[in-house]
Order: sequence, then C-alpha cells, then structure tokens
Amino acid sequence: MKFLLENNLSKLAKWLRFLGYDVKVLNTAVSVSVLAGNQDRIFITTSTRWENTLRKMGLRYLVVPRHDWELQLCMVVKKFGLDRELKLNLCPRCGGKLLKVSKEKFKGKIPPKVYASAYDFTYCPECDTLLWKGLHYERMKKMFRRAMGKC
Ligand SMILES: [Zn+2]
Repeated sequence: MKFLLENNLSKLAKWLRFLGYDVKVLNTAVSVSVLAGNQDRIFITTSTRWENTLRKMGLRYLVVPRHDWELQLCMVVKKFGLDRELKLNLCPRCGGKLLKVSKEKFKGKIPPKVYASAYDFTYCPECDTLLWKGLHYERMKKMFRRAMGKC
C-alpha cells in the first residue's frame, strides 16, 4: 500500500514512513494530472474539494481533519488496516531506504552522549541523514499508542 499526501500533511507523512509505508508528499498543488500520475497511491487530503474528481477517477482516498496529526494517523491506520509496528526502515524526511551502519564509521557525526547510549544506527544516502534508536524510541512508541486512541 502506497500513499500520496498533500503538502500540509508532512507530520503524517513522517509517521507513515516510521511504519514502513511508501509515502510521496506533493510539493505542488493538487491537479487532475497529478492525481492521474499517482493512481497506484491512496490520496490523503484535508480538503473535500477533490472528492467528486477522485470518485469519478475511481481512486482510493481519505479526507482527514487539519492540524491534528494524531487523529490523522489514527484514521489512516484504521481505515486501511495498516501494520501498527514502528519499522523505522525508511527515512522519515525523504522516504529513502535506510541502511544499517556501524556507529564507529560515523563517530565524527554523532554527539558523544548519543554515541555512548544509542543503538541501531541507520543512514539515508538519499538525504545524508543519520538516525538511531535511543530514549526517543520509547517515547515514539508511547506517542503512537496515544494516537491510536484518538479515533
Ligand atoms: Zn532521507
């Protein structure tokens, strides 16, 4: 299952990527040609403006409320029966595939405190981002559980 998100849904995009889903965020306005070019994706929008067009084109979509990313995430996960595991295999910034790396190799780029305590280091070659698991990983799991209680 792959998604196409309006550009005001970047926080939702990040979380869907945490779950391991292929997400494309629009950097242009929505148009018929944009929708036609992404028919293999489920369109997530905060506007009802395109509903008629989407129905006529036979595309899958979901209208979510603005400004509440927890509710948005809850709705998408439940509506499409998404896997509720934080896979953290895709870059939350660009959606690129994360590669497992050894922290020794990136020592110069890692704050000493993180170097001592974090684990599971991964790297996104697409946007040159280094990520790791640490205390925030437990917080993320809590945030996700809280979001799932929103709908
Ligand atoms: Zn990236």
